[in-house]
Amino acid sequence: MDERLKYAPCGYVSITHEGIVIDANHTFLDKMGYQLEDLVQKHIESIMSTANKLIFHSYFYPFINLNGLVEELFISLKDSKGQPIPYILNGRRYENAGVEIIDCVLVQMGKRIDYERELRSAKKQIEEAYWEKDQALTKLQQIHAEIERKQAELMEINKILVELSNTDKLTGLKNRRYFQEKLEEQIVQYGNTHEPFSVCIVDIDHFKKVNDTWGHQTGDDVLEKLAERLTSQSRKTDIVARYGGEEFVLIWPNQDIAESKANAEKLRQTVAESTWQTGSITVSIGIATFTEADSDATVLKKADQALYASKENCRNRVTHIMDLNQ
Ligand code: GH3
Ligand code: MG
Ligand code: MG
Repeated sequence: MDERLKYAPCGYVSITHEGIVIDANHTFLDKMGYQLEDLVQKHIESIMSTANKLIFHSYFYPFINLNGLVEELFISLKDSKGQPIPYILNGRRYENAGVEIIDCVLVQMGKRIDYERELRSAKKQIEEAYWEKDQALTKLQQIHAEIERKQAELMEINKILVELSNTDKLTGLKNRRYFQEKLEEQIVQYGNTHEPFSVCIVDIDHFKKVNDTWGHQTGDDVLEKLAERLTSQSRKTDIVARYGGEEFVLIWPNQDIAESKANAEKLRQTVAESTWQTGSITVSIGIATFTEADSDATVLKKADQALYASKENCRNRVTHIMDLNQ
């Protein structure tokens, strides 16, 4: 073998048509840890695993017979210690004086395989990272949905709490706090439209006696029933609230002096004519119609003064503050 071919930067092995090794260069022998005598006259398949023999049979021989050439066959050959060394093999059939020789060039693939392994491992790591990211994202979406659900729940609870904080427990009517809020709103609206509105206080006459005679529970029942009467007599836009004790307050939007007096009179009569388990129940009513000079405090004070006048005037009576000033 030519000296340069002996030390060429790749393995060089010649085999017969039957696969018997004829020659091998130093580069190949050195890499594989063989002496030339270890291989010469041996079958090339003697340094192949069963799987590689199969590849050799099904690919190398048919191609070399058909085309006289095999290119880039990936194959593993066992070194002297039995370790597989991966190679890329190119083979060419050469015929001289009727004798056929196949020359094989073997380029070692170790580095490329390591590189491919690294690539595969990096790809796996990336896939795992993506999977973890997806998991984290799903978890985040679940947490987000949970937060939204809790927020909706909280808003619902807040709504209930607001409703409770505005409601009188015994009668189910709105309470004094809510009334005060609505009165202030009504005054703002008055500032914009100057449409009249009236405030009315309804107080049960001699209610203490009801309690004393019939007991506190019956007193409660009377309060509840009166609340129902007041509500059923009111328009949707009216505000009906329990001011405290046996006192109720109403805001009547779009009601001037005459209208509010007529309204209150109807209310007084309804109560007086209703059937009560305690016999008769009457109420005294005081009204004030809001004027430019008024505030929430003064309009309430005026309605209270009118109520006081009704009480003074034998009770079961309606008084408008304007009646007192005349
Ligand atoms: P007037 O005609 O002057 O209004 O006399 P009155 O007895 O109605 O008024 P007074 O202020 O002397 O008494 C009010 C009574 O209302 C005293 C109190 O025990 C009773 N009362 C206040 N709140 C409630 C309640 O929630 N339930 C019951 N059963 N009684 C109540
Ligand atoms: Mg009373
Ligand atoms: Mg009272």
